[in-house]
Amino acid sequence: MNTYGRHPLTLLRGKGSRVWDDQNHEYLDFVSGIAVNTLGHAHPRLIHAIAEQAATMLHCSNLYHIPEQIELAKNLCQLSGLDRVFFCNSGAEANEAAMKLARKFFYDAGSKRRTIITATQSFHGRTMQTIAATGQDKVKTGFDPLPVGFKHVPLNDLKTLTESVDSHTAAILLEPLQGEGGVNLASVEYLQGVRSLCNQHGVLLILDEVQTGIGRTGTMFAFEQANIQPDILTLAKGLGGGVPIGAMLAKEDIATSFSAGTHGTTFGGNPLSCVAASTVLSVIEQENILANVLARGQQLREGLQGLKQCFDCIEGVRGQGLLLGLACNIEVASLIECCRQHGLLVLPAGPKVLRLLPPLNISKEDISEALLLLEQCLNEVKE
Ligand SMILES: *Cc1c(COP(=O)(O)O)cnc(C)c1O
Repeated sequence: MNTYGRHPLTLLRGKGSRVWDDQNHEYLDFVSGIAVNTLGHAHPRLIHAIAEQAATMLHCSNLYHIPEQIELAKNLCQLSGLDRVFFCNSGAEANEAAMKLARKFFYDAGSKRRTIITATQSFHGRTMQTIAATGQDKVKTGFDPLPVGFKHVPLNDLKTLTESVDSHTAAILLEPLQGEGGVNLASVEYLQGVRSLCNQHGVLLILDEVQTGIGRTGTMFAFEQANIQPDILTLAKGLGGGVPIGAMLAKEDIATSFSAGTHGTTFGGNPLSCVAASTVLSVIEQENILANVLARGQQLREGLQGLKQCFDCIEGVRGQGLLLGLACNIEVASLIECCRQHGLLVLPAGPKVLRLLPPLNISKEDISEALLLLEQCLNEVKE
């Protein structure tokens, strides 16, 4: 169906941070399948792990124990400090599971808390429940009636959030750094304030790290940079390095509300996707990729700030690590098109923000080249 306004481009193969189309034109990939191709394209270890697992067992039902799933769950719990994992196939499903778990937790406790507070400009997925959670009208129009039980408040406004918490509030659901909604960073003070607010009122903090998780911001999870911990965490996009997988993690006392038969999935956590994700985590560690995200993120940010000095259409540089946004005072569609024609793939985050999401193992030279191409295109759209 015509659910995507597709670019006139057909990509056939990739290697590292580069992809090639059906005319054999080469592009620097600063989209990464929207923050999915963590290790770039065709990483040898990921190829090997997937091929080996495909030859051993692709899928087996969650009716049985799955060693590859157990191993990944242990890794994710150790990295996040949370205790339990539910695996699924996408970000929306991870958020669905998170909201179901939060509601069930309070139901089990005999509490009336059901409402979930989220941020305006947020993005949480495309299912009925996750469009209801999303703080942008554009994803909701035409889909009435939507699930009820949501309140939306502006990000980084602790006063308004505090005023909207009441005896019916079950959870606060936030992206530490909003991706689709414009690359808007939740400040450290705000996140810490939200954490204490949740503690004070017995409200659960759900962090949606579907886009920011698995190293994208320079730490394994963005919440580490605010020195806080969520009660429930959702992951997807970069977790499988290109193989679909989502995860919802929670603290033990909350996770127990998902007892046998309360929630489930056919595909989620199958051996293939879990092996892919475990390989991504192992490569991130062994190839020192978090350090690369910090160094390359710094390089890209400085380059973008340099461009801001030269071009009036640029208002600011936003984001963290390798999830960066160039906030403009013009619509970025023609700039994105120009970049594509010059061999650089980038994406928007709303009409006036250019979003840059290169693979996390991108080289210094590739960042420099992308900055040159971007500068050339900024000059062209100016004319
Ligand atoms: C992409 C995204 C989702 C939805 O993930 P899907 O895999 O497309 O369902 C949810 N939350 C955030 C923050 C995202 O960036």
